[in-house]
Amino acid sequence: MGERKTFQFETEVIHAAYESSEYEGSLTPPLYQTSTFTFKDAQIGEKRFAGEEQGYIYTRLGNPTVHVLQERMAKLENGEAALAFSSGMGAVSAILLALTKTGDHILCSQGVYGCTFGLLQLMKDKYKIDHDFSSMATKEQLLEKIRPETVCIYVETPINPTMKLVDLQMVANVAKEAGIPVVVDNTFCSPYLQTPLSLGCDIVVHSATKYICGHGDVIAGIAVGKKKFIDHVSMTTQKDIGGVISPFDAWLLLRGLKTLPIRMDRHSDNAKKLAKFLAGHPKVESVYYPGDEQSDDYDIMKRQMKKPGGLISFTLKGTKETAQAFMNQLKLIKIAVSLGDAETLIQHPATMTHAVVPKHAREEMGILDGLLRLSVGLEAWEDIQADLAQALEQIKK
Ligand SMILES: *Cc1c(COP(=O)(O)O)cnc(C)c1O
Repeated sequence: MGERKTFQFETEVIHAAYESSEYEGSLTPPLYQTSTFTFKDAQIGEKRFAGEEQGYIYTRLGNPTVHVLQERMAKLENGEAALAFSSGMGAVSAILLALTKTGDHILCSQGVYGCTFGLLQLMKDKYKIDHDFSSMATKEQLLEKIRPETVCIYVETPINPTMKLVDLQMVANVAKEAGIPVVVDNTFCSPYLQTPLSLGCDIVVHSATKYICGHGDVIAGIAVGKKKFIDHVSMTTQKDIGGVISPFDAWLLLRGLKTLPIRMDRHSDNAKKLAKFLAGHPKVESVYYPGDEQSDDYDIMKRQMKKPGGLISFTLKGTKETAQAFMNQLKLIKIAVSLGDAETLIQHPATMTHAVVPKHAREEMGILDGLLRLSVGLEAWEDIQADLAQALEQIKK
């Protein structure tokens, strides 16, 4: 595609990287549901494999529908290139395995997605790739844990599920000086709320299963970064490990992306009202929400996020049993892991998403037994609030 004007985010989610005139005028990007591509003659096949001629070969190596998604995501994240994967963990594992070798060290934020924790453990046990966690609250705290073998800084912000924030600009500056790439899991924000590459970070990963899809019907992942690095991943840990996205799932993500800004606005507006309701309720002990003006992280939120997003964590006065009894009383809100869907979802991290993390490590991450995570959906906030209120009413003092 030739040079064209750059539009605002709300326009690019709909138009970036697609020119209908190149596809018979098809308004939406066509679904190329094919495993392979035929060559007109043997020489063309030879040239494509040799990289001497542009063109598709086999869907694990590239597919036109997937290509549009990748280019669009690169644009939205302000990166040079992107790759789509069969899951968020497919993206996380391909990136971490591409960056590391035996003897290396990864420094992580104080809290990562449960399966990312599992992957780090696997890399340590099988390949002797070590890792550490740091609160990254100050430059000094970050520097303290960087070793000569540190080859990657891996950050989630907001951290799942404690909703603590990490100052991405600060981390990027420290890392740049040390010559270490920063990988950011941007799942909780989506590029509408936060673009880590614009703040100097190097690679963004996503569970596209969440806000990017937005409709709870796809498992997928995305990685965005510099073209040279993304090409390397494409030819190694993606191509040879094989966690590629299916064309149909890429097509569904393109469909979901069009409404991303509208959805994120609604998720954020609803969450703001519900966070306030929860914080004022006598049976709620504490609320963790990036939009909390009293929070130490509020300044960071204002600096690096457009809005506080759609996730709220909170604890009830009482034990795990109180939390479970409360969940069982909910009628509209569904008990399910995942987030970013139209439906409001609630889960109990200690026994669900972070059950794989040993109790002591969980507590270091701030995941206590009474903690609940609410992914605020797109329903009328009054209905969500009424459901929370009636369930809170049912639980014993
Ligand atoms: C869900 C999630 C993942 C993993 O993504 P999958 O698509 O389930 O593989 C990684 N990071 C975060 C923050 C997530 O919420």
